[in-house]
Amino acid sequence: MGMTMTQKILARAAGLDRVEAGALIEGRLDLVLGNDITAPVAIREFEKAGLHQVFDRERIAIVLDHSTPCKDIKSAQLCAVCRDFAKAHQITHFYDVGEMGVEHALLPEKGLAAPGEVIIGADSHTCTYGALGAFSTGVGSTDMAAGMATGLAWFRVPTAIQVKLTGALGPYVSGKDLILHLIGRIGVDGALYQSLEFCGDGIASLEMDDRFTICNMAIEAGAKNGIFPVDERTLDYLKGRVERPYTPVEADPDAVYTQVIEIDLSKLRPTVALPHLPSNTRTVDEAAGKPIQQVVIGSCTNGRLKDLREAAAILRGKKVADGVRCIVIPATQQIYLDAMAEGLIADFIQAGVAVSTPTCGPCLGGHMGVLSDNEWAITTTNRNFVGRMGPTSSMVILASPAVAAASALTGVVTDPATI
Ligand code: SF4
Repeated sequence: MGMTMTQKILARAAGLDRVEAGALIEGRLDLVLGNDITAPVAIREFEKAGLHQVFDRERIAIVLDHSTPCKDIKSAQLCAVCRDFAKAHQITHFYDVGEMGVEHALLPEKGLAAPGEVIIGADSHTCTYGALGAFSTGVGSTDMAAGMATGLAWFRVPTAIQVKLTGALGPYVSGKDLILHLIGRIGVDGALYQSLEFCGDGIASLEMDDRFTICNMAIEAGAKNGIFPVDERTLDYLKGRVERPYTPVEADPDAVYTQVIEIDLSKLRPTVALPHLPSNTRTVDEAAGKPIQQVVIGSCTNGRLKDLREAAAILRGKKVADGVRCIVIPATQQIYLDAMAEGLIADFIQAGVAVSTPTCGPCLGGHMGVLSDNEWAITTTNRNFVGRMGPTSSMVILASPAVAAASALTGVVTDPATI
């Protein structure tokens, strides 16, 4: 019986020839990640356990992205804990204000994730790096602490769902629509503790930014990880970013899947998720006309250059509707620079958009766009749970950058094809 991509990576990390789904293994870690909310908890655990040394200062990343530039005294104190630890342990990949970006956009950009690697992060959207053919998954802060000390973590080897993609995406349809469609089909627990393994000739048409978005939201279907095979596009992306050797894996032809889901990309429509679950999906036509007060385009899901290009193409030369606040947040400093060089930032500002320095900010109701009572937002983020961006009476609709931008122009949920 063959192994899936994830099983092969975990077997290698555990020093085994093969692993079976359900087995408990201890694997070597290539990278351990934390942010300004989770790293302080891990640091406290690390110190409480009397640990004095990290396993490898090159293999730990701490990114101050959630509440930075610090929004209040508490967030400033949490960041100070991270700074002190990073300095004491000479953590190579420590990203503070001015250098940081939203972690799951920043790490691939900096070449800190590569095919076949095992990455844990004290953040549920660590699954993003599966777009590069890595096994990456979110863990708790205690696991992060243990990982920082030992370079090891235990895993239960997951079963897998195979998602077979055919065709190519149509106009105004992106990776976000694909993943929302998939979550709508299988539910928020449809892939519980399983790998979502993508395959099929449709993959070739997906840009890397689409693949990052898709893997980013694997956790919203309950998946342990999402993963793409490595192809020419992946190798192109890695060129000039990753100098160390890496070894991609392929699923065995006789790998076992609990389920095979087929998606013809050419049949997908722009898709949104209504409150309060990412699985509460509708095509944009079904949701069209719903009034919104705020639009957010950014986050680890959709704050990359392709996302900003798609949004700018719709907003260029037009004005955000009266009564709508539109916020665009490039996910990293490099994306911000690239967007500026392409004139996208000017497009946004001229359209009446507020452009922010990279931060998670409004995605988790932190700052830079918290909602008020009974307000509705359409956002390119990944969660629309009760109270995610403001009080429990506020409502969040998840959408692609194209749908979000089109809605900013009209003040209601809008199909970008109609703009
Ligand atoms: Fe989490 Fe949102 Fe930040 Fe992504 S952008 S890491 S989902 S808070």
